[in-house]
Amino acid sequence: MTAPKPLIAGNWKMNGLAAALSEAKAVAAGAAASAARVAICPPSLLVHRMSEALAGTPVLVGGQDCHTDESGAFTGDVSAEMLADAGAKLVILGHSERRSGYRETDALVAGKVKAALRAGLEPIVCVGETLEERKAGQALAIVTRQVRGSLPTELAGKAFAVAYEPVWAIGTGLTPTTPEIEEMHRAIRATLVEMFGEAGRAVPILYGGSVKPSNAAEILHADEVGGALVGGASLKAQDFLGIVNAL
Ligand code: PGA
Repeated sequence: MTAPKPLIAGNWKMNGLAAALSEAKAVAAGAAASAARVAICPPSLLVHRMSEALAGTPVLVGGQDCHTDESGAFTGDVSAEMLADAGAKLVILGHSERRSGYRETDALVAGKVKAALRAGLEPIVCVGETLEERKAGQALAIVTRQVRGSLPTELAGKAFAVAYEPVWAIGTGLTPTTPEIEEMHRAIRATLVEMFGEAGRAVPILYGGSVKPSNAAEILHADEVGGALVGGASLKAQDFLGIVNAL
């Protein structure tokens, strides 16, 4: 089975007004010859404009969350169909900021994954342990349990990615050691193969949490790392390109 191209996705979180589209355009200009698939996931209000601004470039646009339903009385929510209609090709689901801030459970994340598939979006499903869980020696058990619970069987045969993001590494400047990343990615791979058979070997497993230009090459070349989910360092084109071009 040929390994898929690595995926480098920028998660802008709640950052970025229309003026920030110039950063996205600069990413597209600098990533044209990249060995990776490159994506930017801006706040949902920018998805449409960014998709238009990046049309004809290889950079994909994604959402950061979606509802489980297609439409209805859900004040403030955005459906997967709406993201797709606005030009998104991917969607981040189950980010730890949603799991902790909005009490998203594995079962809810799995429902959102089904919604993304229904709309033709490629889900990037996030998993990761807290510092307390790592210190208690539970990291592998927690993360593999999240993988099992957040990935519905409907993903069989579909394009998707898993992002391992230790909660304590997000936005902190801290990262696990390379052997720690490899140990977790191998455990996730084994779980994917258990769940999806040989097709589980082709699923990109991204690492996320304080990825920056200076540590990107080592992380991206680690065993079983199939790309990166980048928060803070994705906001400036120069930093993000430093990561994209570290491959
Ligand atoms: P960070 O965020 O790169 O700023 O640590 C990563 C993420 O939350 O996806």
